[in-house]
Amino acid sequence: MPTTNDRRPATRVGYGFDSHEFQLGIPLKIGGVTLPHDRGLGGHSDGDVLLHAITDALLGAAAAPDIGTLFPPSDPKWKGADSAVFLREALKRVRDEGYAVANVDASLILAAPKIGPHAAAIRSEVAKLLGVPADCVGLKAKTPEGLNLENAALAHAVVLLQRARKPGQKKKSRR
Ligand code: MG
Repeated sequence: MPTTNDRRPATRVGYGFDSHEFQLGIPLKIGGVTLPHDRGLGGHSDGDVLLHAITDALLGAAAAPDIGTLFPPSDPKWKGADSAVFLREALKRVRDEGYAVANVDASLILAAPKIGPHAAAIRSEVAKLLGVPADCVGLKAKTPEGLNLENAALAHAVVLLQRARKPGQKKKSRR
């Protein structure tokens, strides 16, 4: 239980958005899952639009620098990087601030492939990466009706953090 003089907010919300363009001949990774498709999402890293949006939501909730600032596309270090690396760093920052993930909700907007058949696998993988149960990860998929965005994938994500005891607090004795 947080100490009574803990003035940090009990909850914090974060929001993230990302988009990537489809390119032929590369794997499609969404939420850490490789989906069967004839094209993937281009980008400096593995192009995982969903993990990028969730990462930015976590960073935003912690008022930390955004994903592009922490992992600049100009840095060759992140070429082809597994986006789970970015998510883990954001999660570490959240935990270092003394917060835990309560739940995350995301919307994917893309013309193809259909996400429905893969939604359970994606939710499960995202939950595993975040260290929360799968029923704490919401995922909706929509087609880009009227947006003329047939060759792009977009992701929006919100995350709710709840205050947790910092590792050092529990053993702290009163003088
Ligand atoms: Mg991105």
